[in-house]
Amino acid sequence: MKLAARVSRITPSPTLAMTATAKAMAAQGLDVVDFSSGEPDFDTPEPVKAAAEAAIRAGFTKYTPSSGIDELRQAIADKLLTEQGLRYEKAQILVSCGAKHSLYNVAEALLEAGDEIIIPTPYWVSYADQALLNDATPVLLPTKEDQGYAINPEELQKLVTPRTKAIIVNSPCNPTGATYDKRTLEAIATIAVKHNLLIISDEIYEKVLYDGATHISIATLGPEVAERTVIINGVSKAYAMTGWRIGYAAGPKPLLTAMANIQSQSTSNPCSISQKAAVAALKLGGPFTEMMVVEFDRRRKVMVERLNAIPGVSCRMPGGAFYAFPNIGGILGRTGPDGPVTSPQALANYLLKEAHVAVVPGEPFGSQHHIRLSYATSMDTITKGLNRIAAAFGKLTA
Ligand SMILES: *Cc1c(COP(=O)(O)O)cnc(C)c1O
Repeated sequence: MKLAARVSRITPSPTLAMTATAKAMAAQGLDVVDFSSGEPDFDTPEPVKAAAEAAIRAGFTKYTPSSGIDELRQAIADKLLTEQGLRYEKAQILVSCGAKHSLYNVAEALLEAGDEIIIPTPYWVSYADQALLNDATPVLLPTKEDQGYAINPEELQKLVTPRTKAIIVNSPCNPTGATYDKRTLEAIATIAVKHNLLIISDEIYEKVLYDGATHISIATLGPEVAERTVIINGVSKAYAMTGWRIGYAAGPKPLLTAMANIQSQSTSNPCSISQKAAVAALKLGGPFTEMMVVEFDRRRKVMVERLNAIPGVSCRMPGGAFYAFPNIGGILGRTGPDGPVTSPQALANYLLKEAHVAVVPGEPFGSQHHIRLSYATSMDTITKGLNRIAAAFGKLTA
């Protein structure tokens, strides 16, 4: 069978692949410490579950409008108005099967062969693959660890060509945990306005922020910015609802109408029960998120401190999301049982095999010097896993 060429451009999500390997090893009875998973370890909050149960009992189990139920779109509009001060009408809001699906709808509605999309690196793995699946070219904008992964506006400007259609903004960022300050966002917005670019603002970690930081959506920087920004968000991360598959997009009407049409011909509505659950999450989930972030903050500090105590490892304190992204450049080049460990991927393989610790290597995020560890897991797991990593790194010979 001859498959479409676009299929050969992409690989399965490497984070999901690592998590699957770790789970398979655990199923064989091995004691695996899993830092690879990109989801909160907390259970979905009770009021959300109750809303879903009530939806099932009430027979709310049929097709809904393809773009999402009015009640949920209204709850999203209310959220964007009260929290961001942004006003959207119903036709500007589309509920999809997770934020990943929302992003895919954007890519499909926007991109075609020859188009370019600028992605600051390190980046969340699916941005580039979704562009490739839609025949476009991802153009990577490197950012520097010692500058807090901030975007350098001059370097961004240099990458803009007549083919550039969009730029991705992901603050707080997965995998680096970096957050963009207002000045950086303003610089990006200025370039986007000047060159007529769409800003795709993935704000899925907006509520997972530390040290009293507040989230700034780039769309709030003025009407001329808002009219070219599509906000991507969802309930997965803030309300521990990754399995429910509800994300949303809010942005310019022509784009959102196109996305809604694509969705109506591809997936139809997201799960009816999950939509009712998402309404409850948006209305009642605030205290849960606050409690979860307090706990993530404790774990963040322990994980980063333990990583920095390992010779050859240095780790910045992430400002948001729930990942540590240590630089393991000082470890690379050392030798293990299978020979020299020369890449993050080789180091991740070594950790999995020798220490039964699953981490995600940096390569799929666009880094040759880092690995990603999620601290959305228990303090005991963090302590145990870091003990194993320290011992395993100590066994590599220089
Ligand atoms: C988890 C994640 C998403 C996707 O979340 P969904 O579960 O599809 O809603 C999107 N962007 C980033 C950066 C993520 O980490």
